Amino acid sequence: MERELVDTVIVGAGPAGITAAYTLAKAGKEVVVLERGDYPGSKNMFGGAIYAQPVAEIFPEFWKSAPVERSSVEHKYALLGDEDGTVISYRNGKHAREGHYNSFTVIRSKWDRWCAEQAEAEGAFIVPETLVESLIIEDGKVVGVKTEQEEFYARVTIVADGVNSLLAKQAWNYPEITPQNVALGVKEVISLPKEKIQDRFNVDEKTGVIYTVLGGPMQGMVGLSYVYTNLESVVVGLGVTLEDLAHSKTKPYELLNQLKKHPVIAPLIEGGELLEYSAHLIPEGGYKAMPPLYKDGVMIAGDAAMLVNNVHSEGTNLAMMSGKFAAETAIQAIERDDFSANMLSLYRKKLEDSFVLKDLKTYKDTIDTLEKNSKIFLGFYPQKVNEFMNQFTGVDSIPKKVKYRQFIGGVIAQRSFCLINDGLKLANLAGGILLR
Ligand SMILES: Cc1cc2nc3c(=O)[nH]c(=O)nc-3n(C[C@H](O)[C@H](O)[C@H](O)COP(=O)(O)OP(=O)(O)OC[C@H]3O[C@@H](n4cnc5c(N)ncnc54)[C@H](O)[C@@H]3O)c2cc1C
Repeated sequence: MERELVDTVIVGAGPAGITAAYTLAKAGKEVVVLERGDYPGSKNMFGGAIYAQPVAEIFPEFWKSAPVERSSVEHKYALLGDEDGTVISYRNGKHAREGHYNSFTVIRSKWDRWCAEQAEAEGAFIVPETLVESLIIEDGKVVGVKTEQEEFYARVTIVADGVNSLLAKQAWNYPEITPQNVALGVKEVISLPKEKIQDRFNVDEKTGVIYTVLGGPMQGMVGLSYVYTNLESVVVGLGVTLEDLAHSKTKPYELLNQLKKHPVIAPLIEGGELLEYSAHLIPEGGYKAMPPLYKDGVMIAGDAAMLVNNVHSEGTNLAMMSGKFAAETAIQAIERDDFSANMLSLYRKKLEDSFVLKDLKTYKDTIDTLEKNSKIFLGFYPQKVNEFMNQFTGVDSIPKKVKYRQFIGGVIAQRSFCLINDGLKLANLAGGILLR
């Protein structure tokens, strides 16, 4: 019996899979997307901002019809101590206007669904409630996928099933993800009337604010927390490496509860009602932990390929770009009727020529360095910044010179010869980032 064969089968209807489906369908290729959720986005969560420029490369002027919440006009960076914090802020009024948008908060269940509708309108066939169990591999080549009920054969398969990809493990005999290479993200969505959000964050009905937060309950751990403003809710969340969670013997929701009580964060959510609590893994390993990106008949995109830039909280944009490059490669492969690893290596070349792998290379040592020195760089120094600000803003009868000498003397006494070493490590990190 002859097998039914489509041009492309895609596993996963997240940002990577749907962008690939949209690009292929728009080029007139047959594409089937298999998604385990009840509908695209139903199982997906993130912090949440999507980035306007990369998204507009795929869906021009998406803000006119997509379910976006608020355009972010201000980014605040907060360094929290136990009960104090130093916050620096960048606001850009232009980001409120079309042509200058930087990022939008979105709710994934609505956003992913909207993206999927765009792909369907171009002719992609999306099959929800379908869990892919394995790849079908014949003579070393991937020729399709197997679900509980049936087999789907395709000229080329795109794996976009997210972090901790079962299919990547199968295709490349890839080892289990290690605790250093993955963080656990937890978040709460807290409902607040839009007028309260506007007053508290000093924005209008269309604009919003992002907080990126270091320290607080996570002092000394490799992790970040955040606050995002939706139209009528505020998101508070954090992500910490599994390794640090295990070492500290802390539960992520305990950290989140402490964060919500911190004097810098608590007033932002006061009086709000909990709408939703969710948790998800985040790839942390970056460039050094990526699996091979292609082999005969298959490419791997998005989180499944570890394409996340944690330093900048970027994941959806890397996922979408990788989906687009995988689809463009698949289109050429279909036109040449060549699905060999050699042909599909074009996908890696496209990623290497773009910001995706360039940025991941730039930050390839950052997480390692932070992991090895987290107590110092994410504990001791942030604490000292807040101590200094306390001295600087505090008014009492002690002469300023005496206070500053005491402060500097305290830092030297605690770190002594390590200060030079710390400086060198920081310079090495910065140098690596700037020169790479
Ligand atoms: C807490 C948290 C906060 C984040 N904040 C941000 C942020 O603010 N901005 C940002 O840009 N990025 C952020 N990210 C990262 C971002 O969410 C991811 O990088 C992005 O979603 C990756 O897209 P993807 O399509 O590769 O994977 P996913 O979005 O995970 O999609 C994978 C899809 O595959 C489906 N699937 C999985 N296995 C199977 C299977 N076997 N069969 C069928 N279907 C399957 C899933 O249901 C899902 O729909 C955050 C992530 C987390 C966890």
